[in-house]
Amino acid sequence: MENQIQEAPLETTTKPKRTRRTNKRPKNNDETSSSVQVENEATPVGNSNADIWSIDDFQVDVVEGKLRFHDLNIPDRVIKSIAEMGFEYCSEIQAETLPMTLQGYDIIGQAQTGTGKTAAFLIAMITDFLDYPLEEKRPNNFARGLIIAPTRELAIQIADEAVKLTSNCHLNVVTLVGGLSYEKQKIALETENVDILVATPGRLLDFARSRKVQLGKVECLVLDEADRMLSMGFIPDVKSIIRMTPHKEARQTMLFSATFPKDIQALAQQWTYFPKEVSVVPKEATNQNIDQVIYTVEADQKWPVLKQLIEENGGQRTIIFANRRDETRDLYERLRKANINCAILSGEVAQDKRVKTLKNFKEGIIQVLVATDVAGRGIHVDNVELVVNYTLPEDPEDYVHRIGRTGRGGETGRSVSFASEDDAFMIPEIEKVVGESIRCEYMVDMSR
Ligand code: AMP
Repeated sequence: MENQIQEAPLETTTKPKRTRRTNKRPKNNDETSSSVQVENEATPVGNSNADIWSIDDFQVDVVEGKLRFHDLNIPDRVIKSIAEMGFEYCSEIQAETLPMTLQGYDIIGQAQTGTGKTAAFLIAMITDFLDYPLEEKRPNNFARGLIIAPTRELAIQIADEAVKLTSNCHLNVVTLVGGLSYEKQKIALETENVDILVATPGRLLDFARSRKVQLGKVECLVLDEADRMLSMGFIPDVKSIIRMTPHKEARQTMLFSATFPKDIQALAQQWTYFPKEVSVVPKEATNQNIDQVIYTVEADQKWPVLKQLIEENGGQRTIIFANRRDETRDLYERLRKANINCAILSGEVAQDKRVKTLKNFKEGIIQVLVATDVAGRGIHVDNVELVVNYTLPEDPEDYVHRIGRTGRGGETGRSVSFASEDDAFMIPEIEKVVGESIRCEYMVDMSR
């Protein structure tokens, strides 16, 4: 299967240590006392008892099969933030990766949103930066840690978590994403130490090319949702960015992806150094009998792809969902002109006409229904072979309702969703609701 990665022979793959990491911090060597003074800009260290925090304040019972953050070599300052965030035990991806990333190993991780992968890579990065403080002063705009994510929403989410995890230590988080003020981001680069930089590829490349941010001293690089970066066409930008960072032997690299198509497998190997490979299989799918796929397409490719899909489908019962009435009308007209047997089911169709249309659809007189969400909810028809999301729904819950029109009553079904530059950012939200990653099919010019 495309999205499976090989379980690495963890015991046999050893990596020569990097020069800067020959001397990892022995367990709690600087924090063996029962209390630590927590660094906090707002309240100067040692100012009051409120600054004194003890790991004893964070009691988590030992439970067989569960790894506590206490059991790992993580500075108490970070543990304190973890406690404040309400985490007690490591999630599976954290338990699988942290013991290795904390030793400086590179990681190729198969995990999707919802598994706790963000904290997994952030805790490793923050621990490393605290263990190895900068020895010499350098300009603010040299990033120590770089996290690249495909969407603005994801980058902001990661940055929020980074801010929480660094709340008890002096590490700054800077976010560079498209769609938000360039000026403000430029000022942040000039005025703060860029300890952890979270960025989307396009905006980052703008800043890096104009040397407003320097990537030549990056110690730790994270590539999140690598498959999404591929499907959104960001790989050429990501390649250019990675070329600006130190050689892979001189940085720690953690790459996460929900799926591992061949291109990502190749890039992952190319970008990492003696990586450990870890896979966390998503929990049981709620729509087990629906084969779901996302086609990433340019907006103007949608119609030809849809037409071909319907034609190849050999008269099977199909529902096409779009978000707006005018889209359904437009699609209906196009399908009709292409001699496809179809009808429209949206709020602008009179109720009695809708009932008749549904009856005809059930009886196989109509092959294709073009529907909006509101109208689509009322469709209770067995044997719908295919659901097409011509546009991704604005509410991710609607995705589940839409695809639930197929694969009913133990039958197998199929859903095809188009994601274009306008709505691909919805995919992570949808996957969260569905509880699994959705296979993406795409065409990208890898030669660039
Ligand atoms: P992520 O997969 O990184 O998007 O994380 C999903 C959610 O799980 C986020 O809201 C995290 O704050 C939360 N989370 C991460 N690690 C843990 C943990 N060890 N225990 C409880 N919640 C966690």
